[in-house]
Amino acid sequence: MASIEEYSSITGQASIDELFLLAKQLEGKSVQNINSTAVGGGVAEILTRMIPLLKQLGVNAKWDVIKGNEKFFAITKNIHNALHGIPVNFMDDDFSYFLEINKMNANEMDLSGDIIFVHDPQPVALIERQKDIGRNWIWRCHIDFSKPDVRTWKFLRTYIEQYDCAVFSAPAFARDLTIKQVLISPSIDPLSDKNKELSPEVISSIFERFGIDQSRPIITQISRFDYLKDPLGVIKVYKKVRKYLDVQLVLAGGGATDDPEGPRIMEEVKHEADKDPDIFVLFLPPASDIEINALQRGSTVILQKSLKEGFGLTVSEALWKAKPVIATAVGGIPLQIAHKYSGILTHTLEGTAYWVKQLLNEPEYARRLGINGKEHIKNNFLITRHIKDYLLIFLSLFHKGDIIYL
Ligand code: UDP
Repeated sequence: MASIEEYSSITGQASIDELFLLAKQLEGKSVQNINSTAVGGGVAEILTRMIPLLKQLGVNAKWDVIKGNEKFFAITKNIHNALHGIPVNFMDDDFSYFLEINKMNANEMDLSGDIIFVHDPQPVALIERQKDIGRNWIWRCHIDFSKPDVRTWKFLRTYIEQYDCAVFSAPAFARDLTIKQVLISPSIDPLSDKNKELSPEVISSIFERFGIDQSRPIITQISRFDYLKDPLGVIKVYKKVRKYLDVQLVLAGGGATDDPEGPRIMEEVKHEADKDPDIFVLFLPPASDIEINALQRGSTVILQKSLKEGFGLTVSEALWKAKPVIATAVGGIPLQIAHKYSGILTHTLEGTAYWVKQLLNEPEYARRLGINGKEHIKNNFLITRHIKDYLLIFLSLFHKGDIIYL
């Protein structure tokens, strides 16, 4: 793990000094993060990097994961999909089972943090313990909340409104709530294995290991195998481009313990790929950070064809590597990409295929998009900015009524 001081070479010393200054104000207070998976997906990705850095700053931070079984995670994935506006048929007892597992966790967990920082809907009902134990509670929403299913939203809202405040990733997700809402976008860690510089030899060795030909163009999407990431749409885009250009497609990703749909989606993807030797469907085990880093760096164009997206860390990761990125204009992606300046935003499959062809035909333009994209990520979406925003919100809980500018 990099030392917090090392980030000054990217962000400047003043921003690191500022973090120490803010962290000092939290002396004696503890921050307990709670989510539903230790590996897989953006939330685990951020917490893995953030907790050690908060500790280095002197913050008493910890991270706990709730326990659940197959039934619980099937329900929470349905809740996740419903919040993204996908029609879902809930069983009669789904919500009561969800609450039962939350209650079990609430009773078994040592909820000792001065601030209890709950991530996403899966553990949202832990807040019921507030009646007995008090404490400051923050609910952090990482998903696209712009058009939620009404019944699911109503159910969750009862719990969300018991928190002291709610944090959303993008303005479009803010809801009409009775509690304070704060906008904080996620971030990537430029010094992690996923994002650090890699030598051309390391990159080539990984492409060789997967049997991908680096002398021909490569388009890549890195994502969990999830319907909302539209991997089948990506294959359709590839097939359209393939009629005109010699190109390879990489679809790489793993699963998450709280996402039971992965294996089924991956099978559908393999079926759609139909043994095309230029499509590489790679199942990545957890801790494949160097592989993902190399795949992003060695690809010609990065795609993120999500149908819905919370923020889309994979977009930040690719832009940070100065890659040309083509992504759908959903969720937090437009915060990261200014169309035709720091990447390309699309709305349809046809549009995506059109832009893939354009960027493959115009490498200099593609290169400039990547360079602008990197600058934008550097200025807005690095972990040091994210830590500062969190420290300010933690402090605001102990200064209710005072104005704190985020
Ligand atoms: N990721 C990973 N392994 C995989 C697929 C994704 O480590 O097999 C990482 C990816 O690099 C990114 C995060 O998981 O850091 C995904 O975050 P994002 O916001 O893109 O999507 P989410 O999965 O949270 O919906």
